[in-house]
Amino acid sequence: MNAAFVRDYFARALAADRLAHAYLLWGPAPEERDRVARDIALAFLCPEGPARGMAPCGACRPCRAVARGASPAFFELAANRAAIDIDAVRELIGALAIAHNGRRVVFAPRLERLTLPAAHAFLKTLEEPGGATLYLCTTGNLGALLPTIVSRCHRLPLYAAEAYPPPPENPDLERILADPARRDELDSDVLADYAPGEDRRERLRALCAHLAAHARRRTAALCGETPAAPTIFDALDLRGVLHMTERIVAAAADIDANIHPDLILECLLIRLRRGAA
Ligand SMILES: [Zn+2]
Repeated sequence: MNAAFVRDYFARALAADRLAHAYLLWGPAPEERDRVARDIALAFLCPEGPARGMAPCGACRPCRAVARGASPAFFELAANRAAIDIDAVRELIGALAIAHNGRRVVFAPRLERLTLPAAHAFLKTLEEPGGATLYLCTTGNLGALLPTIVSRCHRLPLYAAEAYPPPPENPDLERILADPARRDELDSDVLADYAPGEDRRERLRALCAHLAAHARRRTAALCGETPAAPTIFDALDLRGVLHMTERIVAAAADIDANIHPDLILECLLIRLRRGAA
């Protein structure tokens, strides 16, 4: 899903009074992901927010209270801190214990910052009947979270358009990727020959772009965004395909950082053959 789709999703859910209690916005591009989640959190409190496509107006009383850091309805968990420790979660629990009329939002960016004791305490707050409190959490690393936290939240993937340039046209490669009978051909030598690019590093990078496009298509199909087209990831559920996307993004970043590309890709392909077959 792109940012516009995610915003629209919340606007529709809010209008239909069908919002879940807790959301986990997952995305490999942290800045855009956290900005979108924060906007949605603020728009939940702003009377103009839904009409503005889940963007806060910045001028009304609730918006100004948040800007002043004086809103009794907006809580940001451990803003600008490297870790979310148990004290930060206790502070949140204390603040939420104060009676409040109307909506409240807990914005919890980069949940992978939770220390283990803090994660258990946070899980307890997620399990409490929320009333009008909405939890908006974000992460770029599902594997670093307690599975129980992940399963408590409604997960929404956010792919930043600029982080996923469309891969170069390559029908031959696409035929291999979309055909389960050709899984055995998934090795870096064969696949790198298909991917365009002057040197090997560039070819492998292009291959990552193809894999990322498949992951994105599979995610979109699972979210009902577009009709399903065959992908190499058709056997994966949402959690599985998001994990795989994290690995593809990490592999592409490692190739960019000049780590030995064959090694990175071989690790990725082993997972592909095992996970996607
Ligand atoms: Zn406002």
